Amino acid sequence: MKRDLICIVCPMGCRCSIEEDTSAPKGYKVTGITCKRGEDYAIKEVTEPTRMLTSTVRIEGARLPRLPVRTSGAIPKERIGECMALINQLQVRHPVAMGQVLLKNLFDTNVNLIASRSL
Ligand code: SF4
Repeated sequence: MKRDLICIVCPMGCRCSIEEDTSAPKGYKVTGITCKRGEDYAIKEVTEPTRMLTSTVRIEGARLPRLPVRTSGAIPKERIGECMALINQLQVRHPVAMGQVLLKNLFDTNVNLIASRSL
């Protein structure tokens, strides 16, 4: 089945299509992309889609009520909801350093939730 996608690797946002093609080296034919990174993205998006996640968590004792956080790498797209549930339950205490690990090894992916800034 053919799927239309928008590549999110860079700001160009190329529109592309992907469909299975057993004669193609990677098993998929990708059209509309303008670089190799777009092809890799399209194949990954239909085989094992992942996303970086950014959000905020409650912080106690700081001058701001919420601390910006992000995942240290991409996590499976289907785990985003569970990850947000963990983030919503999390409360940290001042002081926190930029890059500090707040949740380790999310869903056994070797990706951590880290602070995006010091606070
Ligand atoms: S295909 Fe290449 S140029 Fe186009 S959005 Fe993706 S990464 Fe950017």
